[in-house]
Amino acid sequence: MAQDVLCEVSSCVHNINGENKCGATQIYVVNHKEKSASSSGETDCKTFEPADL
Ligand code: SF4
Repeated sequence: MAQDVLCEVSSCVHNINGENKCGATQIYVVNHKEKSASSSGETDCKTFEPADL
């Protein structure tokens, strides 16, 4: 199980400001556009929620 999830998506409410870390207790990563991924760029975090920026 992942303990420390690093993430640069600072526009997500779960992102810990300035640390590039995810603060969510659980994340759900899905295939981008529902196509089977063959590279990291073809995956997305479905736990993303927009932060009030
Ligand atoms: S929920 Fe997903 S997008 Fe948001 S900080 Fe965590 S890993 Fe990043």
